[in-house]
Amino acid sequence: MARSSALLRRLALALPVLVLSPLAAKAEVPHVVATIAPVHSIVAAVMEGVGEPTLLLGPGDSPHTYSLRPSDAASLQEADIVFQVGLGLESFLSQTLAVLARDARIVSMAEVPGVHLLPARLTESGNVPAAFGRDGASYDPHLWLDPRNAQALASAAASILGELDPEHAALYAANAAREGERLASLDEEIYQLLQPVEDRPFLTLHDAFLYLERRYALNGLGALTIGPDRQTSVDGVQYLRLLIRASGSVCIFAEPQFEPRIISVVAEGLPVRMGVLDPIESGADPGPDFYAEMMRANAEALLACLA
Ligand SMILES: [Zn+2]
Repeated sequence: MARSSALLRRLALALPVLVLSPLAAKAEVPHVVATIAPVHSIVAAVMEGVGEPTLLLGPGDSPHTYSLRPSDAASLQEADIVFQVGLGLESFLSQTLAVLARDARIVSMAEVPGVHLLPARLTESGNVPAAFGRDGASYDPHLWLDPRNAQALASAAASILGELDPEHAALYAANAAREGERLASLDEEIYQLLQPVEDRPFLTLHDAFLYLERRYALNGLGALTIGPDRQTSVDGVQYLRLLIRASGSVCIFAEPQFEPRIISVVAEGLPVRMGVLDPIESGADPGPDFYAEMMRANAEALLACLA
């Protein structure tokens, strides 16, 4: 944290120069930044044929452990709109946005009309959930893993972009309508794919897949840790081991970004199968097709372990 505040101070000193530079003058097409690849993908689809949004968190980055790079700071300084998930997922950014992107419109997907939020799933050990949402209640921030929420983001993005850039408003709206149809058929495709395994029990490494589990009525038993930066208590490990025994055979899904030591502790000597899920599919190419590829990759990984 100390390092990023020093960075912020240095950038704040550089700010007047950048603002006065003719290169920083507002272009016709809005400068758009998106925090994570799934959000970036939806916004990129809405902007197709007009421009491309900048992605903040690239391959291998997790919003839970990310720290700001100078190139990200430069993008934020130029931004007219920043699309984020909200609900505390990008807590690493909140200070930064206030300083660097103070003229930008900040759009939180969690607050977009039509987005369904799910309450955070408390762990058995009574850990406090990672995010606190509106109304004082706590909501799970991994909300992009329900394609209906992605549809809501596509239409909201089209109207917000259209307000800022009326010249392309019709194109944004047409792109959002097409993206909405693509997402509806993706939703149906994933439902068909996962229906045969909907009752098979599984655990994930951190609690990132609740929206996907609920959307496709899957039998997710919970997670080994509430967040990648949280330790699971001894009682928690005992509970998880009882849960696995009681369920017969269970799949445990690791994630590529995080050290899965907890998995061997929980699974030792028990009949578990292993898979890998990735809530932001950090290895894939960002862009308009990213979202569908991420959802398919996760659905296929679920199917491969659960079938
Ligand atoms: Zn997460």
